Amino acid sequence: MPMSHDFKARLEPVIQKISDHFGTPFHIYDEKGIMETGNHLKKAFADAEGFKEFFAVKALPNPSIMKIMKKMGFGFDCSSSTELLLARDIGSFGEDLMFTSNNTSIDQFELATEKDGCILNLDDISLIPKVPQMPELICFRYNPGPSRTGNDIIGNPVESKYGVSDSQIKDAYIAAIKRGAKRFGMHTMLASNELDHKYMKDTAAMLLDKVSEISDSLGIKFEFINIGGGFGIPYRPEDTPMNIDLLGREIAFLMAEFKREKGWVPKLFMESGRYMTGPHGVLVTKVINHKNIYRKYIGVDASMNALMRPGMYNAYHHIHVVGKDDSTKKETVDVVGSLCENIDKFAVQRTLPETEEGDIMIIHDTGAHGHSMGFNYNGLLRPKELLLRISGEIELIRREQNVDDYFATLKFEKNSLKI
Ligand SMILES: *Cc1c(COP(=O)(O)O)cnc(C)c1O
Repeated sequence: MPMSHDFKARLEPVIQKISDHFGTPFHIYDEKGIMETGNHLKKAFADAEGFKEFFAVKALPNPSIMKIMKKMGFGFDCSSSTELLLARDIGSFGEDLMFTSNNTSIDQFELATEKDGCILNLDDISLIPKVPQMPELICFRYNPGPSRTGNDIIGNPVESKYGVSDSQIKDAYIAAIKRGAKRFGMHTMLASNELDHKYMKDTAAMLLDKVSEISDSLGIKFEFINIGGGFGIPYRPEDTPMNIDLLGREIAFLMAEFKREKGWVPKLFMESGRYMTGPHGVLVTKVINHKNIYRKYIGVDASMNALMRPGMYNAYHHIHVVGKDDSTKKETVDVVGSLCENIDKFAVQRTLPETEEGDIMIIHDTGAHGHSMGFNYNGLLRPKELLLRISGEIELIRREQNVDDYFATLKFEKNSLKI
């Protein structure tokens, strides 16, 4: 089920007022839903030793949301320098931060390895000598290659640019030890938007096996495994949500078994993004045009620069029209933005209630990888973000871009090179 009935029930009675006050389009997030999901996650994994979620910042990089995550005891997974700075800016440091970059540059390493920097998660064996100062605690992202199959969004492990290959992973730890590493973790991320809990359980089992093998061979212990993000959400009404309780129980069982065998067990880390916030955000947009040519088009005041997933991955986002749930007058339409790109469609040949100009359309599940994937192509400006607090208050948590923001990078000191 997309957007929860609870969120809908609290949002709909006030949506007209919110739209009038703040102006459309906007993403709005639900504090209550985010906290319920976070608390459910903690409960589901309570029996897995040392469980900790590191919220994947790129899913929803807004400090107001990140503070909610921090309050629940979560850390942050950062994949760029800016994300690291965002997390530090709200007061998270050191082992509350994972830095998982790919094709890492030297300046990223310098920021990551500052005192109290973060847990460094290295993506390749060739990067080891490039780390300015090898931290005591080091993690590698493992890519198992042909022994596992990935899924559509993230691709097959063999074709994926991420991680250290199976044949290099042991040497990577040996090389890190030579440079002074003393504490160890192992990370992987193989799936994206995966709804099958078994895939995630197999990933935990795979990491435990690999950790066990390297531990036996090198005589080192591992402090944690990190099974990555990639937990799916049901975008389509007919999708079945992932069984997080069962997953928690099964992984806790695997870990207890590991501990019985070895006398120690690594902690369980994960870095979910989509699962934490995806269903708890929607894009609210207004119908501004109707066009009837070879197909019927509904033009709305948001464009794909506010939500790229449908255009980029052909992803389905459920849509409903406020106040027209029971409408019997339906039509098949494409819902489009204003960008000069024919992929700028929120829905293609979707059956929706007939609309009028001014109707409010709600595009579901935009709480992760929605606003954050936005862009400025065609001079389009990115929309604002709002937060529906548990108290019922609606807070602006990021303003919309304006033309001055767009022009800001065109104002600079003259700089040219004569050759
Ligand atoms: C994107 C990403 C995540 C989060 O992915 P979700 O699908 O949002 O759970 C976690 N870890 C890393 C390294 C990522 O790149």
